[in-house]
Amino acid sequence: MDSPSRHPLKRASHEQEQFPPFRFTALRRVAQAQPREYARTRNHLDGAVTALSPYVTHGLLPADELFDLWRRRRGLTLADKLLGQLAWREYFHHVWHHRGDAILDDLGPGLPGVVYAQELPADIRQAATGVPVIDASVRRLYTTGYLHNHQRLWLASYAVHLRKVHWRAGADWMYGHLLDGDLAANHLSWQWVAGTFSRKPYLFNADNVARHAPHLVSPGTAIDLNYADLETLARSGGDVGPEWLRPDPMPEPPLLDAPPWERVPAMPVVWSDGWTALVHPWSLDCRLPDVRQVGILHADFHRRFPWSARRWHFVLTRMARMCETVHLGDTTELAAGLGDSRRLMAVRTLNPGYRQALVLAVEGCLAPPPTALPELDRCHGSYSAWFKAQCRLVPEWSPAA
Ligand SMILES: Cc1cc2nc3c(=O)[nH]c(=O)nc-3n(C[C@H](O)[C@H](O)[C@H](O)COP(=O)(O)OP(=O)(O)OC[C@H]3O[C@@H](n4cnc5c(N)ncnc54)[C@H](O)[C@@H]3O)c2cc1C
Repeated sequence: MDSPSRHPLKRASHEQEQFPPFRFTALRRVAQAQPREYARTRNHLDGAVTALSPYVTHGLLPADELFDLWRRRRGLTLADKLLGQLAWREYFHHVWHHRGDAILDDLGPGLPGVVYAQELPADIRQAATGVPVIDASVRRLYTTGYLHNHQRLWLASYAVHLRKVHWRAGADWMYGHLLDGDLAANHLSWQWVAGTFSRKPYLFNADNVARHAPHLVSPGTAIDLNYADLETLARSGGDVGPEWLRPDPMPEPPLLDAPPWERVPAMPVVWSDGWTALVHPWSLDCRLPDVRQVGILHADFHRRFPWSARRWHFVLTRMARMCETVHLGDTTELAAGLGDSRRLMAVRTLNPGYRQALVLAVEGCLAPPPTALPELDRCHGSYSAWFKAQCRLVPEWSPAA
């Protein structure tokens, strides 16, 4: 299980970047995926996960294409864990599609009577809680921009249920530092952990960590409790605080609310008679080789949801390779800047700000956002209800088929 070649991040550890912003890197990871190993080991920190999420989030490898590649070339079905997990992403986007920006607020009542802080404490931000698995996860987030699913769950559960931080504060912080930060997958997962988008809070303890990440075992710390005690703490206790013995703090890398300009080529837009495709940070694929491409960055969105320098680097490097120029502005500025141009096309996105700007700028030619499974006309409040509805619609995708 500990073979060093199994995990793409381990394979890439000798390279400078673990996530080079190239489509061929994503396609290579798709080809190297090991569905059987994945099903057996995906919950372990050194399991055979794919490390594809930054590419999927930013559209270098859109979710529908990934789904298709695994289905047609590898013969996978929704019964295979790999497609099953990708289906979770589809579900979160289904909820986003129907609920819009409401996903950024509590979708349900959560745990009654618990008071949450609106800010993440400095010891969590600085990887200095004294709980080894939490501090190691924060350090990894800052140094790579990527976390295993279990580390995300543990961080969110610790912050919300033991430190009594409102899920939204934690979600915004994690979103900014992740390379794959996706408002639907991230904010709805935090809500799922908190219990505002699920029937019960997600809790974990030191035994769970020892099973899936033995090198981060955290005995004698706040998480070293049985589940009954954890449940009581989550529902009634206050902030348990950091441990008495703590490591040196690691400064939190800054989150930038505007692109670092040196990465954006400053060239005027020269409109031609042909079609021009507008490229935004969630549509970084290259499916239109004969079309001029112009990048857009929505200033208000990035002020609301700042990104790490690492994430800006990922997005801007890719945009610089694809686009003649990149436009930065708010909705009105972007629409005005593109107003005289003809024959614009773009891929729709649900991200706030961008959604409105694209509708104003590109009236007729907005392609729907890529989805791997059909969009349903009614919002389903749980993954299982949504999944059953999908299987009724397309019976051959059913795990039983
Ligand atoms: C608190 C929290 C925050 C999260 N924030 C994000 C986020 O901002 N962006 C994001 O893409 N995912 C997020 N996830 C989901 C999941 O953790 C990541 O998609 C996954 O860890 C990415 O690693 P991977 O590419 O190696 O995934 P793999 O396990 O190899 O899965 C393959 C692909 O399936 C999708 N996927 C897998 N698991 C999930 C899941 N549980 N939910 C949604 N999609 C999934 C991803 O696109 C992933 O790239 C979050 C989960 C939690 C618990």
